[in-house]
Amino acid sequence: MSGDPKAWEFETRQVHAGAVPDPGTGARAVPIHQTAGYVYRDTAHAAAAFALDDLTTHAYTRLSNPTTAVAEERIAALEGGSAAVAVASGQAATALALLNLARAGDHVVASPSLYGGTRTLLEHTFADFGIAVTFVDDPDDLAAWYSAVRPGTKAMFGESVGNPRGNVLDIEAVARIAHEVGVPLVVDNTVPTPYLLRPFEHGADIVVHSTTKFLSGHGTGIGGVVVDGGRFDFGADPDRWPGLTHPDPTYDGLSFWDRFSDLGLAYALRLRTRLVRDLGPAVSPFNSFLLLQGLETLSLRIERHVSNARTVAAWLEAQPQVGRVHYAGLPSSPWASQAERYLPRGAGAVLAFDLVDGLEAGRRFVEGVRLFSHLANIGDVRSLVIHPASTTHAQLDAEQQAAAGVTPGLVRLSAGLEGVDDLIADLATGLKAAAG
Ligand code: PLP
Repeated sequence: MSGDPKAWEFETRQVHAGAVPDPGTGARAVPIHQTAGYVYRDTAHAAAAFALDDLTTHAYTRLSNPTTAVAEERIAALEGGSAAVAVASGQAATALALLNLARAGDHVVASPSLYGGTRTLLEHTFADFGIAVTFVDDPDDLAAWYSAVRPGTKAMFGESVGNPRGNVLDIEAVARIAHEVGVPLVVDNTVPTPYLLRPFEHGADIVVHSTTKFLSGHGTGIGGVVVDGGRFDFGADPDRWPGLTHPDPTYDGLSFWDRFSDLGLAYALRLRTRLVRDLGPAVSPFNSFLLLQGLETLSLRIERHVSNARTVAAWLEAQPQVGRVHYAGLPSSPWASQAERYLPRGAGAVLAFDLVDGLEAGRRFVEGVRLFSHLANIGDVRSLVIHPASTTHAQLDAEQQAAAGVTPGLVRLSAGLEGVDDLIADLATGLKAAAG
């Protein structure tokens, strides 16, 4: 393979980054290393792997796996990060990304415009862990991010493109505030994927994904990934980040920061060897293989997803039964200019709309469409539809639903890869059903 992999175009990285033909068999596709353990050459070899002196040996699949390692290196290359850790789900990625920064007694500032499961995790499960989260009322109100900061704040968190509200986070502005108060900005980049938006290029420090969605792309495997940009200086205020900088009692007093920051690995290695090791949400190698299959066609699929989403959004906006269409790719969106700045190739393929006749019309619509599958996911080759207020955001109260942009009559779509005229014909059938 010629050239510096870091200098390859996105399309080359999505196919080749992290992979070489299998040295043992010559297999060109990345093999599925479906094994729990790995035979050590001798006791010294085993001891070096366990002590983190040897980072190339896989010790046990809960910690690392050769198939998963290719997916991790590839996603780090696509995002422009220094290292990535794949985990069992997007939820695990968000939880561990923040637990690697905050502990009991600490605090996080977050956007309110989040996937419902993330809101529940941060508001309730983190509270059970002793970590408080302040949700700013309006993620575009930059002063609100500032005023939410407390002495124990350890991170800021938001979705680059909110699910399902479709709002675009002003990553540069929020990153600037985070850095002024000395904490990293963690961005969930699931909806746009790195093909459309790379948060590190705008100042974010850590990126998380549900790889279940567009990255795997076919609705076949649950997974998540945490990517470190490798630039946040945890050494500048070491006592604020004891987990990263102080001696680790489970590794003979090693400091992740002292030992691995030069390699850009301190944050990722601590997440892998303390959090994934101890809490256990390791991804299956088979799911990593499915993720790699998806990544290899990411740019092609996203181009088609975006083109279908644009056509569908514009068509919906012209229908009298439809109130607002929430899609930053529409000129009418309050986030149109933010989308032009952050998402020049398109605002993704998740969109939502309000039916003027409200909740019951929404239910009839969801039950009336045929090509759009009624299920809880986004980012499948198939087009998907759901009613967030009664499903993905049902655990939220009315105020929290409103903050996430979820009105009672809201319908969320994930535009798939089908022929767009068929999608529009199906939506027309749904609207007919909605009208009763
Ligand atoms: N982040 C976003 C934006 C999501 O839409 C989802 C799931 O819908 C998640 C995170 C959680 O991912 P997973 O379902 O893989 O745990």
